[in-house]
Amino acid sequence: MKNQSQKGRQLVFLNGGIAIAYIIAIQISHAFTTLPGEVASVWFPSAITLPMVYYYGTKVFSGIIIGSIVGLIPALSSLDPPLSLINSLLLNTICVIANCLQPWFARYLLNKFSRHQEIFTHLSSVLVFIVASFVAPLISAMLGVTGLLIVNALTIGEYPLAFITWWLASALAHILFSPPMIIYREKEVLHQKASYGEIIINLSILCVICIIIFQFAYPLEYLLLPILIWGVFRLNRCNSSLLVSFVAFVAITATGKGYGIFVKSSVNDSLMLLQSFTAMLSLTTLILSAVLSERQIAQQSLKETLENLEIKVFERTRELTQAQLNLKHANHTLKKIANTDSLTQVANRRYFDRRLREEWHNMLVIAHPLSLLLIDIDCFKQYNDTYGHPQGDECLIQVAQTFKSVTRHNSDCIARYGGEEFAIILPNTNQKEAQFIAEKILKEIRKLQIDHKTSTVLKIVTLSIGITTSTPQANDSLEDFIQKADKALYQAKQQGRDRFVILV
Ligand code: GH3
Ligand code: MG
Ligand code: MG
Repeated sequence: MKNQSQKGRQLVFLNGGIAIAYIIAIQISHAFTTLPGEVASVWFPSAITLPMVYYYGTKVFSGIIIGSIVGLIPALSSLDPPLSLINSLLLNTICVIANCLQPWFARYLLNKFSRHQEIFTHLSSVLVFIVASFVAPLISAMLGVTGLLIVNALTIGEYPLAFITWWLASALAHILFSPPMIIYREKEVLHQKASYGEIIINLSILCVICIIIFQFAYPLEYLLLPILIWGVFRLNRCNSSLLVSFVAFVAITATGKGYGIFVKSSVNDSLMLLQSFTAMLSLTTLILSAVLSERQIAQQSLKETLENLEIKVFERTRELTQAQLNLKHANHTLKKIANTDSLTQVANRRYFDRRLREEWHNMLVIAHPLSLLLIDIDCFKQYNDTYGHPQGDECLIQVAQTFKSVTRHNSDCIARYGGEEFAIILPNTNQKEAQFIAEKILKEIRKLQIDHKTSTVLKIVTLSIGITTSTPQANDSLEDFIQKADKALYQAKQQGRDRFVILV
């Protein structure tokens, strides 16, 4: 509710402002732009109504109507011969309709044919704006001049010239003075690059050129163009279009006051020169500015696309690296699972076979001794029978753990050879060292004091170990080497268990 009343108040202020601006614009048009012979070269109110109706639509019609009625009363009452009250009311009504219809039609054309929300940032939309600026005043000129004809303020012979003057004055107001008001609300795409020093220098040059052209009437008007083009390249869009409006205003008011190079003996010649020159300045800079904006927008969008692409590539690379890491980890885990005995967590038989072949080859190359221990738990069948299979599993785990504590983690390899049999590969280990390890294993197992009341050896779990050591030669057979360890184990069993036997 509060919001609505606030909006209502804003609308009243907006319309009030437009009405006042409209009246002032009429006064300026009369005071400054009227050429000798009473012809306004630019109709400023049109410059205000187009941007206002373009942005606010019919909501600002009341401001235009009030401004139009109040502003035109002095002009209409000063007509010679004076109008009757009826004719005065009729002409005023026609003018009000024309003044509302003109910006509304321009807005319609812009909305229908411009494909961009921001008109002055795209060349195609600028061209639509130029067309709308010239087409819309045709309606108001037709209505207004016909109104003058109806109330007998004009003869039919004067109709064509009055029509053209009315039409061009509004069209020129559109293209010279409306752009800064529209651009003011558009998103800025060309940022100001010029420093204050640069701006001051260029504005000073501009003033000097204006004085030469309008005070001393030297025909150097085309020197204005480089300064305006500088504005397009170095200022933001709003300021560069303001600069064009300023130059146009100076040209129009100076000519209106009878100064400068555009003042000719005939009013029509003056008008034509002034209007064509200022229109040319405005159209050139508007088109140039639109082309620059388009390029800037394209560059910006390219930059954003590239940045997005870079971010995407970075993200994909990171995802890929993570996926590779996960894969590596999964592979490692898989490999470990494939090579590990699930119960005892030492190497399985498959790994043992491969590792033994590798170590055999390594020792062959460097001519170092390789030792192999085949270990079998004594009377394990009885153990299972006495304590149950799960307890037997526990015992296997405990025994395997003990092996870990007496071997070298990096080089030796403990494997489950089968059932209750284990094997330990000892690279770079001679017979004496292998014997030492076997003794240590037997000692540690005894130390565990795992009850085994049905054992035929002791009343605790014991092991038998077969040991063999060899420095492999090219003609030696790995199978013989294993056989020897197996034979040694067999002998250890034969000799009463809980011991090791060495065969070389
Ligand atoms: P020896 O002293 O001659 O080695 O006699 P043993 O009873 O230990 O040998 P035998 O070959 O007769 O029996 C081996 C037993 O090991 C039979 C089997 O039930 C048991 N065994 C093999 N694998 C497992 C296992 O994974 N878990 C359990 N709990 N027992 C197993
Ligand atoms: Mg066995
Ligand atoms: Mg056994």
